[in-house]
Amino acid sequence: MQHYLRGVKFMYDADANAARTVLPGCGPLQLAQADRSGGLRQQVFVHVRAMGQASRADIARGLGISAGSVTALTADLIQTGFLQEIEDQPRDAGRGRPPVALRVVPGARAVIGIKIADTRHSAVLLDFSGTLLADVSMPTQQARKPAASLVAELATLVDRLLAAAGRDMCDVVGVGLGISGIVAHETGQVPWSPLIAGRDTALAELAAARLGVPVRIDNDANVLTLAELWFGTGRDRPDFAVVTVEHGVGMGLVLNNRLFRGSRGLGLELGHTKVALDGALCRCGQRGCLEAYLADYALAREAATALDCTVPATENAALIDALYAEAKAGNTAAATIFRRAGRYLALGLANVVQLFDPALIILAGERMRYDYLYSDTMLREMHALTLTEGRTSCEIATHVWGDLVWAQGAAALALADATDAALGA
Ligand SMILES: [Zn+2]
Repeated sequence: MQHYLRGVKFMYDADANAARTVLPGCGPLQLAQADRSGGLRQQVFVHVRAMGQASRADIARGLGISAGSVTALTADLIQTGFLQEIEDQPRDAGRGRPPVALRVVPGARAVIGIKIADTRHSAVLLDFSGTLLADVSMPTQQARKPAASLVAELATLVDRLLAAAGRDMCDVVGVGLGISGIVAHETGQVPWSPLIAGRDTALAELAAARLGVPVRIDNDANVLTLAELWFGTGRDRPDFAVVTVEHGVGMGLVLNNRLFRGSRGLGLELGHTKVALDGALCRCGQRGCLEAYLADYALAREAATALDCTVPATENAALIDALYAEAKAGNTAAATIFRRAGRYLALGLANVVQLFDPALIILAGERMRYDYLYSDTMLREMHALTLTEGRTSCEIATHVWGDLVWAQGAAALALADATDAALGA
């Protein structure tokens, strides 16, 4: 199913599990043409993968290199099993045979992407061209687990994924993991996650030891941003932000076609930027964080008061659904809670626009099915809080993805890493 929507239109579909756009290929389009960090052989491969298919002349033009270099480099990539010529190209009537196009060899060199979550893990198997070969999800017990238990669950998930695809681990060259919390991408450490008992877990190392292939990790918001950059609306956008509203509020930022991770690689904690002095208490222990007004526990706290009931934190989602139904049925107190949350979201987004001036902000996450959070009122408020004189206003899009899209973003982590390993200078 494809639900890629541009502009402020919105669609909710719990099965919206395919981040594919109509564009062929995968990976950031502009980076494929502009990046000179890898060697030429890698640039040719990345270019063909991004375009879906390309003739030798297209490659020479796209990368600004000589036809002779392209001939030598593509011969090498074909011989080593990365690229192949497409045999049956349609003839252009009256013009004879078109130039032979190249594509990434389908099915070869697979990577796995996994979204680790609180009630259900999801995984996808992609080949080196980014084509989805199989996907599975597996329910899990909602609890903070010791790292060893979590890694054992991942191993089971991977077994099921490979069985579904009729593959084995020999075909897999890398795994990407997305997990919520504070995640140090470069070192593979998880200083803190709501899903892991204990602190400073060497998650990438533990998972790599168990699975026998390199493992890269990143936080949820970053892997969703990678899904947009590699497979979605962000493919042809050099600068955009993704803001996720789930259990917490996360953010991923692409600057100049690359995911920006900050100097310590800990991610952008939009949810813990302050929107009030001495404000509401946040789960991080500080006061006045955006998340303390917008995340599910914040809405649940207010819902419990408005609906005059108490429920355990594990049932926050059901409580907020009940609150939403009340709001839709005309309960003013319930509607006010959502509108207020929408105003705080407007404040947070306006701050993102003022700081980074992105061309596009993609709103994503489970909570975005509550329409107050992306209403015209919220957007008007956001624009009113932004100084836009002489500039066009930032485009806002709302995507509600299923877990497999997050897993696809995690697979992009592995794809990028495995491409560097296989073809890097
Ligand atoms: Zn906080």
